[in-house]
Parts: sequence; C-alpha cells; structure tokens
Amino acid sequence: MRRLRNVKIVATLGPASETYDMIRALHEAGADVFRLNMSHGTHEEIREKHRIIRQVEKELQSPIAILADLQGPKLRVGVFANGSEELVPGAPFRLDLDPAEGDLNRVCLPHPEIFQALKEGARLLVNDGKIRLKVESCGDDHANCIVETGGTISNRKGVNVPDVVLPLAALSEKDRDDLEFACGLGVDWLALSFVQRPEDVNEARKLAQGRAAILSKIEKPSAVDAFDEILAVSDGIMVARGDLGVELPVSAVPPIQKRLVRKCRVAAKPVIVATQMLESMIDSPMPTRAEVSDVSGAIYEGADAVMLSAESAAGSYPIEAVSTMHEVAVEVENDPTYRQVIEASRSAPRSTVADAIVAAAREVAETTEVAAICCFSQSGTTALLIARERPRVPIIAMTSLRGTARRLSLSWGTNCVITNEVNRFKMAVVASSRAATELGYATAEDQIVVTAGLPFNVAGSTNILRVAPCDERLIFNMENE
Ligand code: PGA
Ligand code: MN
Repeated sequence: MRRLRNVKIVATLGPASETYDMIRALHEAGADVFRLNMSHGTHEEIREKHRIIRQVEKELQSPIAILADLQGPKLRVGVFANGSEELVPGAPFRLDLDPAEGDLNRVCLPHPEIFQALKEGARLLVNDGKIRLKVESCGDDHANCIVETGGTISNRKGVNVPDVVLPLAALSEKDRDDLEFACGLGVDWLALSFVQRPEDVNEARKLAQGRAAILSKIEKPSAVDAFDEILAVSDGIMVARGDLGVELPVSAVPPIQKRLVRKCRVAAKPVIVATQMLESMIDSPMPTRAEVSDVSGAIYEGADAVMLSAESAAGSYPIEAVSTMHEVAVEVENDPTYRQVIEASRSAPRSTVADAIVAAAREVAETTEVAAICCFSQSGTTALLIARERPRVPIIAMTSLRGTARRLSLSWGTNCVITNEVNRFKMAVVASSRAATELGYATAEDQIVVTAGLPFNVAGSTNILRVAPCDERLIFNMENE
C-alpha cells in the first residue's frame, strides 16, 4: 500500500480493535505494523488477531509487520472482581500471593520474589506511576501498603519498584511459552520488555532461532546505561517511555529518546518511539496540542516509527488516532526544516561496498531527479542502509522473501514488494520498474535507481547500481536486444 509519508505507524491491537473490519480499517488509515501485546489475552485470542492481520495483508497485497510484545519480567497485579477499584489517598491496600480476585482492600501480586526483596518504606508505582503505594509492613507473601496517590486500579496493571533491585530473569516461563507460540504463528518481530543487558537479547535470539527479528524495549535505567551493547545485538529498538518515565524521572526521558533515536539511525536499525503519544485520544476524538507536538517531535528526531498503545487497543477512537498520526507525519515531512534536520544528522557511510553504493544511490536519485530507489535485498540489510540515508525519493525494497518484506515494514520510508526470484539484472530492472509504476511512484517517462548484489542468489551484499528508464516497453526491447 502506498503511503504519502515515510515514518511508520505501529498500532497495538486490543478489545477496541480485534475485529476484521477494525483491523482492516486501521491498516487502510495508516497502520503499517500491528503490535500484539502478549500480556493481555489468551493464545487463542492472539491467534485470531494474527489470522485476521494475515487475511488483510493477503487481500490488500501489502506486507504487514506483526510485532509480538513479550511481557518480560514486568510485574502486574492480578484481576479484580469488579474489573477495577478506586483507591483513595490514605487508605490501606494489601498486595499478596492469594490468586483470588481483588477488591477495594487487596489484590494479588503474583511474584513471590518481590515480597522477599521489598522493604518497609519502599514505593510501589502502579499503572505507569499514576498510583503510588508505600509499604508499611511486609512478609514473604504480602505487603501492607498505604495509598499515597490514589486513582483507578484495574486488572493486570503494571507495577514498578524503583527503590529495590529485583532479582528477575530476562525471560519468565510465560515469556518462553509466548515466544514459542508467537514464533509458531509466524510473527515478524519479538519485542523484549525490561531488557537490562545484552545477554537478555542473546537469550531470546537463541530461542527464536531466526524465526523473528528481535526488538529491545528500553525501559530500565540499566538498559539506558548499556544501550550501545544492547543495540549491537538487537535488530530494532523501542523507546518505551511508559516504564522508562516511571523508573527514571519523566524529565530524563526526552534527552534519552533523542540520543537513542540518533544512535539507531547511525546503526541502521529501526527505532520506535512509544507510549502516550496521543493518550487523550483514548477518550477524545481530538488530540491535545502537546500530543501533536510530541508525535511531530519524534518524527523530526528521525524515528522510524511512532506507536499507539491504549489509543488503538482500548480507546474509543482507534481510527482517528491512526489518522492523526498520519496527518502529523505528512505535515512534518513536508516541512523544509524536517529535510534540513534529517540531512544534517546523516552519518557518513561506513567503509563497505554496500554502504558506498547506497550513499551513491541517494546522491544519484537526488541529483538527477529519479522517481524512486529500488533495492534488491534478501536479508533486508541493504534496505536498512538506504532507509538510514533518509532519501528524498521513495524507497522500494524488492525481495522474494516474505519475512524480509514484512520485517522491513517497520523501517522508515521502506515500501516492501515481494517479487519472484530474479537471476539476471535485467529482470531486476523490469521488476523494479513494474513495482515503481504500480505503486504510483513513477510513470513511463521517469527513471529509477536500481541496486542489487551480483551474482543473484549468492550470499553477499549490494555491489551494483543502475539508473534505468521506467518504461517497460523500453526494458522489453533492451531485454531482447
Ligand atoms: P508496555 O511498554 O506498554 O508494554 O509497558 C511500553 C512502555 O513501557 O512504554
Ligand atoms: Mn513497558
């Protein structure tokens, strides 16, 4: 599907967006990537969402990335008999290991290791830090707290304990189970929550066995500290501002976001800016000015993707939220300042042939006004390098591998097209010409840049660049010379 913007939109699916009609409408409105949150819903429910996405993908013939977000060692309360309760400041509230449904006085916190690590006076932050509880007394299976800041506490809300170092493994039993399930379904990306060290990423990669790309969510101070090492072993990054802003002062988040986005671009790895981007649109059809400014800020910084969480999963206006992101993106990307910022922050190519070809492709495209850059990329690496260049013309990633096309749907500006295997460069030119025309980026009068690695179907990277006419008849004649 042709989009008139480069930044990608990730939409989380949930109760507000689980039907065929809704998922299709979200994709048509602009969602390029769907996020399945493994913290919510049964495997059967997730299987059904996955099935619908693939159906939409097939019907619209537009590769869609599916990102399965593993819960990770995130602490969550259990469920409430009434679904939610209103906690008022000063009231006592107990957390314990009893799996019975919660009420106004208590709820289950099914993590024995936490009670062992908790201390009197420690703060427990619930629901992105909106509710604050202070531990008055605690034992091996409970903590009696006082509500410091009240609010609505509801089923499976997250809990952060910034004052205590928690002895938690990177992947819980549930995560391993979910990972296997998600890989079995055929998701494209696995998001790892609460990554703390590069070893956590390596562990997940070993389990995934190449079936999905690995995206590390940066939401712990320790992950910020070890970011370079984590980035080196990850395929993508999420700036998970929700938990990051609970574990660290919220004012620390924007500079971290800027730094991480920049580093990801240098590394040619996609980065998502996530959480509360259009929070007020959960209940309102109109965003606040500040939210629009936040979304545009992430785009100006050079993020590959912006994400919706509850706005699309549980809000009243999922489509409007996607449309808003789309409109903001179009506006920003048409601003000359955006081009200036993006071009000024471009890093020099590394000393590989592929880097040099890709940089040349952008130069040629911009000097001679070609209509698109088409790159043949089996692993996706070359497409990522082109995305890093942030060219002014559309990027068309041509691959015979469905998985590559889907994964690349997360990357800035990348239009993914699945082609038959090609074994001659002329075939590559014909296929590119067709794709550029069909996507509406080029007409018969235009020229396109085509890059590929020769010989075809031999592992190795891009080593050829060609400027070709887009007219298929010319190409046909050329082929029959
Ligand atoms: P979550 O991750 O929505 O799974 O918590 C995103 C964040 O923390 O920002
Ligand atoms: Mn989080």
